[in-house]
Amino acid sequence: MRVHDLLDHWAQRFPDEVYVDDGTRALTWGEMQEWTRRVGAWLAETLNPGDRFAVLDRNSLEMIALYFGASRAGVVPVPLNFRLAPQEWKYIVEDAGCALAVVHEDYEHALTSVVPHVAASVVRDDRETRLRFADDVAAHPAVDIDRDVSDEQIYHQMYTSGTTGKPKGAMVTHRAACTNAFQIQLALDANRKRTLCVMPLFHAGAALQVLAYTAGGCSIRVVRDFDRANVLRAMSDLRIQLLTLAPAMIQDMVADPLVAELDFSDLDLMVYGSAPMAVEVVKKAMDVFGCDFAQAYGMTESCAVATILAPDDHHRALRSDPGILASAGRPVVGTALRIVSRDGSILPAGSVGEVLVRGPQLMSGYWGLDEATRSALEGGWLRTGDAGYLDEEGFLYISDRVKDMIISGGENIYPREIEEVLFTLEGVADVAVIGVPSERWGESPIAIVVPRPGTELSSDDVLGHCRANLARFKCPIEVIFVDSLPRSAIGKVLKRDLRAPYWQGLT
Ligand code: ATP
Ligand code: MG
Repeated sequence: MRVHDLLDHWAQRFPDEVYVDDGTRALTWGEMQEWTRRVGAWLAETLNPGDRFAVLDRNSLEMIALYFGASRAGVVPVPLNFRLAPQEWKYIVEDAGCALAVVHEDYEHALTSVVPHVAASVVRDDRETRLRFADDVAAHPAVDIDRDVSDEQIYHQMYTSGTTGKPKGAMVTHRAACTNAFQIQLALDANRKRTLCVMPLFHAGAALQVLAYTAGGCSIRVVRDFDRANVLRAMSDLRIQLLTLAPAMIQDMVADPLVAELDFSDLDLMVYGSAPMAVEVVKKAMDVFGCDFAQAYGMTESCAVATILAPDDHHRALRSDPGILASAGRPVVGTALRIVSRDGSILPAGSVGEVLVRGPQLMSGYWGLDEATRSALEGGWLRTGDAGYLDEEGFLYISDRVKDMIISGGENIYPREIEEVLFTLEGVADVAVIGVPSERWGESPIAIVVPRPGTELSSDDVLGHCRANLARFKCPIEVIFVDSLPRSAIGKVLKRDLRAPYWQGLT
């Protein structure tokens, strides 16, 4: 099965039903099939099978059309994070050897100035100007191009978020992408629902979400930019039934008084994931929206999703077992987990070690990084770079990223545990804990806190709360108050940036 087969399946059954819309344009399954055939024919004219091409845009129907069109043409999209600096785009475009870039006009100049040798086709919003991409595509026939694309060919080359280092190009086959789409669809019961796509489509989580919704014959409203009030209104006005949001988005939304005025009675399921979400925020969101919740955990290297904390598990939390909300859930179908120590031996339930994942959705490898691929996929198990443990029932608990762990006086400290405690303190709107150099302990934790507007919060309040709830060695030695935390486009706290000033010249 190839990715475009998911679209063609429903296009045959429901050609006249709306599949995607962006608020100004709505396309039926049949229209999208036709458009993506043209896109495929256009790409096939410029690119040879297996060629890479960059895609740079915020969420749009064009991006979705390009993904399906590429699938038909057997060429490989390399989506670029629109929040990166031009030099970072240059790094990825050159690393992937992109032969073409399809760029929204907002980014045209920045991209073409750093990689002038790459031909660019430009998507314009302004209907009056010449639509180069649209014109190029429209000049091509809407017939099925026969490129004999196989399941084992690379579908996309998605770069990791670069949270812990330089982004790496994870190569994902059609087979892996389709399998993960069905794994997600099954876990979320994504069947014929009205959905909203808010997460950025350059990211594996959102790209796979679209495939999962497509696999289930859902309709998708594509939201170009996250704006709290607009998303809340769209959820209510469009009677959205299913959507996935980043924890930072939900954290932002639950604090908005607008929530109380709107009707979310059609909302079946809200999914959160791609970064840790504090248990306090999950509880608040469950209270505010009153719908079912699911958590997804995974990474670019596992296509997108490896485990799900299901709606049932959230019900169980409400009934009897609140602690389960700290879990990232259990593996999606066909997927296995293992926890290993530093020397690679398998650890029993309850012991913290590195999380390994095996399943049909794993990437084939990192583009051009043989050594990194060998170590990431040794023995068919993906090393996730996350530390965590399994409980007796097979629920996975993510302690933190291995690289974010603080080693203080020989003790391992997982910042996430301290952050979870601080989220229970009234007056804390957001918080990140990082390790800073300490002569005596090697490293010590400090807390960087965003106070809730209108509250008085002192360092003593924060430290006192930690002392009351955490072992002494885990308590931050200092509290720094800031207005906001640096976050990536997908809402991950950029701890590298927070740590940098403390470690300059030391590592
Ligand atoms: P890089 O690998 O380049 O440093 P990255 O790991 O942030 O960047 P992604 O593949 O986008 O790139 O993110 C995967 C990581 O996100 C996981 O390894 C994990 O640390 C985190 N993550 C994803 N989902 C969850 C979740 N539900 N709970 C906690 N952490 C999560
Ligand atoms: Mg990673």
